Amino acid sequence: MKKNGFTTALLHADRRAGVEYGAVHQPLHPSSEYAFTDARELAAVFQGKPGFSYARQGTPTTAALERKVTHMEQGTGSVSFASGMAAITATFFTLLRQGDHLISSKYIFGNTNSLLGTLQQLGVEVTLVDATDVEQVKAAWQPNTRMVFSETFANPSTLLADLQGIGDWCEEQKLLFVIDNTLSTPWLAPAKNFKAGLSINSLSKAIGGHGHALGGMVTDTGLYDWTAYPAIFEGYRTGNPQGWGLTQIKKKGLRDMGAAMASDTAHRLAIGSETLSLRLKQSCHNALSLAQYLDQHPAVVEVNYPGLSQHPQHQRATEYFGGLYGALVNVELHADIDVFDFLNQLEVFVLSTHLGDNRSLVLPVAHTIYYEMGAEQRALMGIADNSLRISVGIEDTEDLIQDFAQALASFTLK
Ligand SMILES: *Cc1c(COP(=O)(O)O)cnc(C)c1O
Repeated sequence: MKKNGFTTALLHADRRAGVEYGAVHQPLHPSSEYAFTDARELAAVFQGKPGFSYARQGTPTTAALERKVTHMEQGTGSVSFASGMAAITATFFTLLRQGDHLISSKYIFGNTNSLLGTLQQLGVEVTLVDATDVEQVKAAWQPNTRMVFSETFANPSTLLADLQGIGDWCEEQKLLFVIDNTLSTPWLAPAKNFKAGLSINSLSKAIGGHGHALGGMVTDTGLYDWTAYPAIFEGYRTGNPQGWGLTQIKKKGLRDMGAAMASDTAHRLAIGSETLSLRLKQSCHNALSLAQYLDQHPAVVEVNYPGLSQHPQHQRATEYFGGLYGALVNVELHADIDVFDFLNQLEVFVLSTHLGDNRSLVLPVAHTIYYEMGAEQRALMGIADNSLRISVGIEDTEDLIQDFAQALASFTLK
């Protein structure tokens, strides 16, 4: 695994940026407004000079977190938002205009899917495709296509998009490829590996990791040529084109929509991010062990986990992520088991939504995140009533397996 320097740089970033009194963390700046002793300097910051004026456009604490995530993604810059959804909304709303066309993977986070519906109401055309197959992405192309959007591992199915194929094609077509990297995280692979121009991360998940702060980040990987993007406002087409996209996302996204991250949150997320690689090693190991255990259990009908050899994209996942397969496991229990009774038997797993937490979490998919779409649509999507989504945490491996074992043992199959 060639991830040299990833954690070292995260741990020492603040200190090396120069903090007073030898502090190893950036201080927390709660100030809403930033004052100037020189009026010309005040004007310069308003006119684009790096600096701080009002916390809705960022603080020194959010900037420190942005540097960390930029490092993780090996990018050129990042902008933080109050949540992952705010980051995605800002990206779509600032870069897409009425009459533009977006190609999106159909295997996406439910709330992002809902956002695409809103975009359509506002006059953006959206085509949903099976992004595990690049040919389907290509077939959706139209002259007004501006952006291709995909996640990495799908939630909860764990299908893995053909990121390499899509990235190569987008490069040829000079199309902006945006990856939501939340499920695999930049530690498994930076979105740049797949030629994405922008990477979006929900920091609420594994990067924060402790389930105690919401945040989102948009990172420019530096690969996309923004002079090829029609919807950059004239006023932002100045200086190095590499910064144009992010400037528009920051200016229009944070200023117009206002979903800014608070400094306290940035500090918590920055602390959490320091241990990302350690936590992921353990949660990926736990997820594989649990998936292997459940795969041979007679009370389990199906296990979807990219680390299992029968997974349709097992080979692809191995190539992309060097032998780590994420912390999301999807299982279908035998029809004789009442899913609610089963969940109530669990002692270690927490019955909760959310992903990428230190604690292992489990959710009955059809009755929660896919409830609103109705039984017919669920059947079409292959979501069984007894389907569970498991976000595997960093607990001791045996305790997780033991918990499923004891809960499954309390049922007799007919
Ligand atoms: C959770 C999630 C989001 C949204 O992030 P929030 O911080 O909860 O708003 C976006 N994309 C994916 C893939 C997610 O799992």
